[in-house]
Amino acid sequence: MSRKKGRLYVISGPSGTGKGTVCAELLKDIGNEFSVSMTTREPREGEVDGREYFFVTHEIFRDNIEAGNFLEYATVFDNYYGTPKDMVLSRLERGRNVILDIDVQGGLQVKKAMPDAVLIFILPPSLAELRCRLEGRGTETPEKIERRLGQALNEIKLIGEYDYYIVNNDREEAAALAKSIIAAESARVPEAVKPIIREYENESKGN
Ligand code: 5GP
Repeated sequence: MSRKKGRLYVISGPSGTGKGTVCAELLKDIGNEFSVSMTTREPREGEVDGREYFFVTHEIFRDNIEAGNFLEYATVFDNYYGTPKDMVLSRLERGRNVILDIDVQGGLQVKKAMPDAVLIFILPPSLAELRCRLEGRGTETPEKIERRLGQALNEIKLIGEYDYYIVNNDREEAAALAKSIIAAESARVPEAVKPIIREYENESKGN
């Protein structure tokens, strides 16, 4: 069989649910590539431009919106975040799966633009556990934690738009489940089956 086109995977979930760890595990597979988003937020300590994000000014971000360069974009906690379109499309063409770590607003836009994208929602075991994880990070003020918890519930209310959900009780189990979803999706019979049939027909004619 010739190489398939890649598939687009959206990983969403409230901040503190461990999306980043799940994505990092998925990226250990060379068939999966991460889409680096553009953002107007300030880099955090240790973050590198072009690795975690492309860090840009509001002006540059708006220029990119106007040029139609985003597959989706959204405002998250007062900053713009967007997925560069060309990079995603070219990787899919090359047969790579592309992993997007984006919020729910972005996930819904992707689903509209590319209906065969697979949307995976990562849930915390409970809101109390999420609060513990956010407090444990030590990077957020109490007001910010309250805001993130309120935001978490708003995001969870949209879970019905997603294809799969994973409750992150345990990092390894959550990552293993995400890998299984990708494995199963790669074996899904596509809507356009003609190219598959044609390949075997051609082979049969050649014999
Ligand atoms: P952080 O600032 O903590 O890196 O990310 C904040 C939130 O923005 C996370 O939920 C993350 O998934 C989301 N995010 C990151 N990149 C994008 C993007 O390109 N588009 C959208 N819609 N959300 C993003």
